Amino acid sequence: MNLPIKNIISILNANFEGNSDNAIFDNISIDSRSFQNNQKTLFFALVGTNHDAHLYIEELILKGVKNFVVTHVPEKLKDKANFIIVENTLVALQKFASYYRSLFHFPIIGITGSNGKTIVKEWLNFLLSPDYNIIRSPKSYNSQVGVPLSVISINENHNFGIFEAGISTINEMENLQEIIKPTIGILTNIGSAHDEGFADISQKIKEKLKLFSEVDVLILHKNKTIEVFLDPKIKTFTWSTTDKTAHVFFQKKTFNDYSVLNITHQNQCFKIKIPFIDEASVENSMHCILTMLYLNYDLNTIENRVSQLFPVEMRLKVKKGINNCTLIDDSYSSDFQSLKIALDFLENQKQHLKKTLILSDIFQSGLENDDLYSRVSQLIVSNKIGRVICIGETISKYKTKFPNATSFNLTEQFIEAFDTLEFANETILIKGSRHFEFEKIVSLLEEKTHETVLEINLNAISHNLNYYKSKLNPKTKLMVMVKAFGYGSGGFEIAKLLSHHKVDYLGVAFADEGIELRKQGIELPIMVLNPEMTSFQSIIQYKLEPEIYSIRGLKAFIKIAEQKQLISYPIHIKLNTGMNRLGFDTEMLPESISIVKKNKTIEIKSILSHLASSDVAADKDFTLKQIHDFEKDANFITQNLGIHPILHISNTSGISNFPQAQFDMVRLGIGLYGISNNETETKNLETVGTLKSVISQIRNIDAGESVGYSRKFMAEKPTKVATIPIGYADGISRAWGNGLGYVLINNQKASIIGSICMDMLMVDVTKINCFEGNEVILFGKNLSVSKIAQMTNTISYEILTSVSHRVKRVFYRE
Ligand SMILES: *Cc1c(COP(=O)(O)O)cnc(C)c1O
Repeated sequence: MNLPIKNIISILNANFEGNSDNAIFDNISIDSRSFQNNQKTLFFALVGTNHDAHLYIEELILKGVKNFVVTHVPEKLKDKANFIIVENTLVALQKFASYYRSLFHFPIIGITGSNGKTIVKEWLNFLLSPDYNIIRSPKSYNSQVGVPLSVISINENHNFGIFEAGISTINEMENLQEIIKPTIGILTNIGSAHDEGFADISQKIKEKLKLFSEVDVLILHKNKTIEVFLDPKIKTFTWSTTDKTAHVFFQKKTFNDYSVLNITHQNQCFKIKIPFIDEASVENSMHCILTMLYLNYDLNTIENRVSQLFPVEMRLKVKKGINNCTLIDDSYSSDFQSLKIALDFLENQKQHLKKTLILSDIFQSGLENDDLYSRVSQLIVSNKIGRVICIGETISKYKTKFPNATSFNLTEQFIEAFDTLEFANETILIKGSRHFEFEKIVSLLEEKTHETVLEINLNAISHNLNYYKSKLNPKTKLMVMVKAFGYGSGGFEIAKLLSHHKVDYLGVAFADEGIELRKQGIELPIMVLNPEMTSFQSIIQYKLEPEIYSIRGLKAFIKIAEQKQLISYPIHIKLNTGMNRLGFDTEMLPESISIVKKNKTIEIKSILSHLASSDVAADKDFTLKQIHDFEKDANFITQNLGIHPILHISNTSGISNFPQAQFDMVRLGIGLYGISNNETETKNLETVGTLKSVISQIRNIDAGESVGYSRKFMAEKPTKVATIPIGYADGISRAWGNGLGYVLINNQKASIIGSICMDMLMVDVTKINCFEGNEVILFGKNLSVSKIAQMTNTISYEILTSVSHRVKRVFYRE
C-alpha cells in the first residue's frame, strides 16, 4: 500500500484540515501504543463507549505520526498534522477497507459460523499455500475492527485470500460482507443455542448468511434448518453423512488416534485418512476437502495434504522462563501479520528491559525476500528488540539487517548451542513456522514446574473490563483491585494489562504488593488499602498512596511526611459507613479536619467508603443508607476543607446494583476476574481462570477395596481410579472431596472419591474413556468457581485466592 491522503479524502467523503493532502501513507493503525506507528501511518482515532483515541493524538504527533482520521480536530493541534474529518471513524475504517478490497481481483474465501472458523482458515492456508500466495486474517481477527485491518494487509503479490467473519448481533454482517466480498463462502456450522445478541436461531442464521450474498459458491453441511433460509440463486456445494443427495457424501471410521473418511463425490469413491478422531475436527476437515474439490485439486494431492493436518494453537502464551526470563510463546506460526501482533503483545507484556526475538523463516508473505526481511527488520528496530536469533536458511542470510543477531540454519543447531546463548532476565518472543518445531525451544527455555497450571485468559480480562466500563458514566474513573496477587490470577501480568487499558488506579491490600508492582515497572497510581504504619517509609519511597482510616494513622503519616518535607503527598481518606472494619466514624471528622487543615505535606486525593452488602438484595435499604451517609460525611470534609477529591464507594456488585452510586470513581474487583454475584450478569462475563492438571496414574480396584487416607472411600463394585497431582496445599478445599466434588476429564464429570490429600486427589473414572497423562480440569468454563463455592459453602473469592503459589500461572491471549 502506498496511497496519497488525497485519495482517501474523496473515498470517505471527508473534510480535510492540514498541511498537505499529498502526503503518502503505507500502513494503517488504530493502536496508539504500538511501536509500529511512524510518519507513514494513517491513524484512525476510534471512539468506543469508554475509549477515545483522540486523546492520544498529541502523543502520536510527538512520535512522528502525521496523518489522522478523526471526528474532530483537537483544539490545540490545529496545523500540527493532517486531519481527515469524518462523522464516524470506525465506519470510515470499514469504508476504506472495502475500497481497498475493490483494488484486488482474486479468489477470496469468506468463512463464518459458530465454531471452527479459525481452524478452517488456518488449515486451508496450509493446504493451499503450496500453490498460492495467500493473505489471511491473522489470529482470529474477525470483528468489525479486525476484518478491515486484515483486508488492508493485502498487497500486490497476493493472489488468494482467506478471511473469517464473526458477529455478535444483528446488522453486523453486511458491513463485513462489504469489506471481504468473498467469492467462495464457507459456513462452518451454526450452534444450536442462540447467542445473547440474537432474538432466536433463525435470526442468527439469516444474519450469518448475509456474508454470502455475492459468492460464486457456498460450501456447507447439508442441513434442513439452514436450507430454508438460503437464497436459491446462490450455488451451494454441500456435504453430509446421512443425506445422499448432498454433493459429497461421507462416512467416518474411527481408530485409536486417526479417522478414515470414505468419500463419494461425482460417482467416485476415495478414502482419506485424517489425524483426528473428534467430531469437530472431522467437520472442519470436510469443509477443507470440499474447498479443494471445488478448486479442482486431484485426489492424490487432497489425500496427501489432508493427512498432514495438525492441531491449531492460536494462543499467544506468557510463561515463566529459566533464569528469570519471561517467554511469549507463539511457536506455531510465523507470518508477517501475526509477527506484528506478537510484537505489540510483547511490548504490552514485557517484563524486563531486555527484549529478545527468536524467529524462523517467514513463508508466503506475498513479498520478495529482500523486501520482506527489510520490513521485518524495520518492525524489529521500531519495537526496540535488543537481540534477534534467526533460525532458518533464508532468514540467516539477512541476519545483518537485525540488531545483535545470531543465526542458525536449523533448530537442532540452536539447541546444540543453547548453553552458550545465555538467556537471563529478558522477555523472549518465540515465533516460528510450524515445521521448525519451536516447541522444542520453548521446552528448553521454560521453567520446569509441575503439571498443574492455572491458565489466565487475558482476552477475557479485557472483555470483562470493557463490560464494566460500559456500565459507567463517561466521566467515572476506574480503580481496579489487584490485591491478593490479582485475586490469585497474577499480580504483575494483570497490572500490566490494566496499564495498557489505561485504567485510573490500581488498588492493593498491603504495601509490599504495591512495591512488587513498582519494582516490575508498573507506573499507574496505586492505592494501598491497609498500610501498616511500619510501611509508611517504603510507601513514600515507592510512590504508593496510603488509605488513611484513623486519627492515629493520620498523625503518624503526617509526621513522616513532615520529616521528609513532602509537599501535597496524595492520601486517601476511608470513612466507615457500616462495614465496621476500617475507617473514620462521623464523630472523628472534626478532629481529623483540624489536623489536615493547615497541613501542606499531604493532599486528600480521594475519600472512600466500602459497601458491606451490595450483592444482597435484602440489604438494599442498608446499602442505600451507607451511600447516603458516605455522601453526607464526604461533603462535610470537602466543604470544611474547600477541596474536591475523588469520591468512591462501589465495588463490583455496587457497580451493577447501585448505578446511582458511582460518584467519581468505582473500584472493580471480582468482576474483572469473570465472577459476578448475579447470574444474569455472569452470562456477560468471560471465564478468566482455568485450573488444569493431568492424570498421574490409573488403576482398577475391586469391590471392597478402599481409596485414600482413613479409607473414606469403599468400592462397592469394581472401580477405575485416577490420581491427580493436586491437593489441598494447592488450594483444593477438603470440603470438595468425598463424593461431593468432581473434576472434568474429556468434559465428563469424574467424582472425587475419598479425602483430598495434601498434594493429590483421586477420582472415579470407571465410565470415562481416559489415559494416564490426559488433561483434567479442576475449574474453568464448564465447572465454574461459583458453583464449587456454592457447593462447598464458601465464596468464589476464597477459591480464587487460595490457589497456591506453587501452581504455575500461564497467561495467554487468543
Ligand atoms: C476488595 C475490595 C474491593 C473490590 O471488591 P469486589 O467485591 O471484588 O468488587 C473494593 N473496595 C475495597 C475497599 C476492597 O477491599
